[in-house]
Amino acid sequence: MEYEIVLQIFSGGFLNDTVLYETVEYKLNSVLPRLPVQKVIMGWSPGKALYEKTADFLAKKNIEFYLWFPVFSETGMIRAQSPLADLWGSVLERAGDHRSEDFSFCCPNDPQNIKNIIDIFEREFAGIPFTGIFLDKIRYPSFAQGQRSVFTCFCPHCQAKYRNENFDSDQLMEALSAPASSPLGISAYRGGGAYSFEDNSISKFFELKAAFIFQGLQGLCQYFRGKGLKIGFDVFAPFLSAFTGQNLPLLSGLCDFMKPMMYRITNAPAGIPFELKALLRETNGPIEKKKRFLYDLLGLDPEKKDIDLAFVVNEVVNLVSSSVCPVYPGIEINRIKNLAEVHPDYVEETVHAYARAGIRSFVLSWDLLNAPGENIDAVSRFFVDNFIL
Ligand SMILES: [Zn+2]
Repeated sequence: MEYEIVLQIFSGGFLNDTVLYETVEYKLNSVLPRLPVQKVIMGWSPGKALYEKTADFLAKKNIEFYLWFPVFSETGMIRAQSPLADLWGSVLERAGDHRSEDFSFCCPNDPQNIKNIIDIFEREFAGIPFTGIFLDKIRYPSFAQGQRSVFTCFCPHCQAKYRNENFDSDQLMEALSAPASSPLGISAYRGGGAYSFEDNSISKFFELKAAFIFQGLQGLCQYFRGKGLKIGFDVFAPFLSAFTGQNLPLLSGLCDFMKPMMYRITNAPAGIPFELKALLRETNGPIEKKKRFLYDLLGLDPEKKDIDLAFVVNEVVNLVSSSVCPVYPGIEINRIKNLAEVHPDYVEETVHAYARAGIRSFVLSWDLLNAPGENIDAVSRFFVDNFIL
């Protein structure tokens, strides 16, 4: 099996100025001769010229080009999307102004939201010769946005779906207020994001959320396939995915490849330390006790500052065996002060550990334009040392 590198470029959010094509071309020219790159993902700033020129450049080099496109979040910045309602009957307010991403999620069960997502694609990106589309934010909010954001959605569209499934939201409310010995009453973890919970209503609730995300994506994927596009998915690390409505083995049936964000040192949304801290903070019960339980269950060392590399590799290996599409773990390559302090030793040890476990494809995430040369060198050294290029 050949090694494959996927590059990811953040060109800006829907309301940002786009980056210059020349900047992208310069960076790609400095990286492509040194790595076995087969795909480039870029998005999602507006302005077709950047994508058209990049598509032309990549086509000549026989490299696939995917549009990075957010689905259930960000789209609300440019279209009125119906928001999520929580279990206690309040509508989630928009998360406020962030410069490039707003992390406000819309309800996947409102057909108008799905229609708006397609309209945005048609207006901003139709006609550009992409090979595929890389769908991000295919989830509900995580604990990083607070406990009530996770216990969504209970809008009228969702209420109707719960009634069809005989789901009892009063029982869920009771289960959440009962004292639990572990976060959410987790009793077991079987890998690939599959947890058991002491209370049935909690298991049922996360199962239904995953089914709703899957159903929303089914329609969208059918639309994008109809446009002749391949499909990639950006997903949470398996052990965090279950709490956001992502059933990764199920989702693997809809796409051509899946990128779990195995960000071991990112202190921002989707980063493992950031999300794990939020999970412990935003569930009931004493934090230290929950931490001991969860770290023990997952096999994480509570004394280590960073998330164990062996744990992350094991998560990916389990996901590979339960997925029907290829799995390309996302490795941070960019360096952003206080958010992602990524240095060459981190990149190097990560690539080596995956390779030893038989993983041959990686996504260098999430923004090549912010990746220092020495981090690229660290990846390139791996291929030189192993006589691959
Ligand atoms: Zn809803």
